[in-house]
Amino acid sequence: MEPLVASPYSSSETPDLQQLFKRQQARSEALRREDAGPRAVRLRKLGEWIEQNRTAIQEALYTDFRKPATETDVTEIWPSQTELKHTLKHLKQWTSIQPVDTPLALMGARGWKQAEPKGVCLIMAPWNYPFYLAIDPLISALAAGNCAIIKPSEMTPSVAALLSRMAREVFDPAEVAVVEGDKEVATKLLKLPFDHIFFTGSPQVGKIVMRAAAEHLTSVTLELGGKSPVIVDETADLRDAAEKIVWGKGINAGQTCVAPDYLLVHEAVQEPLLAEMQAVVQRFYNATGQGVATSDSFARIVNQHHFERVAGMLEDAQQHGATVAMGGHVDARQRFIEPTVLLNPAADSRVMQEEIFGPLLPIRTFRTLMQATDEVNSRPRPLALYVFTQNKENQRYLLRNIPAGGAAVNETILQLAHPELPFGGAGNSGIGRAHGYAGFLAFSNEKSVLKQRTGLTGIKSFYPPYTPKVQRMVGWLLRWL
Ligand code: NAD
Repeated sequence: MEPLVASPYSSSETPDLQQLFKRQQARSEALRREDAGPRAVRLRKLGEWIEQNRTAIQEALYTDFRKPATETDVTEIWPSQTELKHTLKHLKQWTSIQPVDTPLALMGARGWKQAEPKGVCLIMAPWNYPFYLAIDPLISALAAGNCAIIKPSEMTPSVAALLSRMAREVFDPAEVAVVEGDKEVATKLLKLPFDHIFFTGSPQVGKIVMRAAAEHLTSVTLELGGKSPVIVDETADLRDAAEKIVWGKGINAGQTCVAPDYLLVHEAVQEPLLAEMQAVVQRFYNATGQGVATSDSFARIVNQHHFERVAGMLEDAQQHGATVAMGGHVDARQRFIEPTVLLNPAADSRVMQEEIFGPLLPIRTFRTLMQATDEVNSRPRPLALYVFTQNKENQRYLLRNIPAGGAAVNETILQLAHPELPFGGAGNSGIGRAHGYAGFLAFSNEKSVLKQRTGLTGIKSFYPPYTPKVQRMVGWLLRWL
């Protein structure tokens, strides 16, 4: 589990968690009384820190799994800043009272919703986008007026140490603290009675988190993973589809929750699509002709365990009859796995059973959309569904018939970059929504308020005793209102 290069950051010691939690609980009462102003100040300070530490963020990610600096800019820093700007732009509106219409039966009363902070929240982050997936929920938590403890992944120690430094430099630990550590530390944290837990990670650990949350009836947001399919029909623009699929699979070396996991292609266009994908891989990652392993634009697998897992899947697929149509080269010393396409993987091979989370793309063909739909729906609900088609009827059919957390038509990945689109899973791929207003609401209790006028109100006509007159009034109520 060693990072590729020794971490330049020293790991902080685990603080007394009970004490830290109590401090945050006490401070959260003060935060509750704040309006949008002080929250915006905190968010701006965080934004400035990100801006000033761009190089340090790039270095930490490079250290952990040789993530190219440009990719860190595009997939860690830019989405964090986008979320921040969007939140700052809408914060006043989100924190103000939201009036609702009053039905005739309650005439004279007024109703509104007012978001209040949940209190002290736990944010558990994974290793694959270790910076963005800690910062993004933190932005929502702060916007909603909460205190937060962040538990970064132990698999990316350089980023974890950097996040600790960020918290020390930007925040009072009574408001935001980072607690580094492995699952033992996570288990201790999960014993505390948090007001909300925002977890991003695997479905297996998601279940552990939900069980622990149940103990305190703590609300949860679970941002999980799974197998996200790509469907390419016979009308798709294949060159465009190939570029977007290779890009979506190639960033972070396939270690992306919404990466295209497997591809279902209409049998009539499998060969030309494959040829286009081959050309794109060469253009993106082998422009010099020296091999993808020499590319500065392609990351490594995060650690030995995951390298062996993905390399094992490749071997298993071949043993189950799949053929390697592209790539296939692996190098354990570098934890490098080439972008690899596998044709005709058996349904019971590991690449078709487990979330791949690496640069392997199994391809199966279909004849009818119903076949493709049945294949996807035979698995747990995906986090993302990708549809490549120029036929509107096919688009409608697939979007209507395949349940998924989110979807993109003629694109991959970018559904999560749209700040107005709530992001999250369905069933096995997660519970709840993140980003923008949805993220703000995840960390808020939407208090519903009804304000009645004093004195005579319509509803008093139904008070006891239930005389014949009251009964007539009730009959009228049931009939007309
Ligand atoms: P993981 O579930 O192994 O770890 C996530 C966090 O849980 C880490 O902080 C880790 O320390 C902690 N943890 C691990 N084991 C634990 C245990 N037994 N008890 C308590 N805490 C524990 O996930 P990962 O390997 O870091 O990330 C990969 C997974 O995350 C994939 O399934 C991927 O699809 C998913 N993911 C989802 C999203 C999303 O937004 N939906 C984003 C990124 C990753």
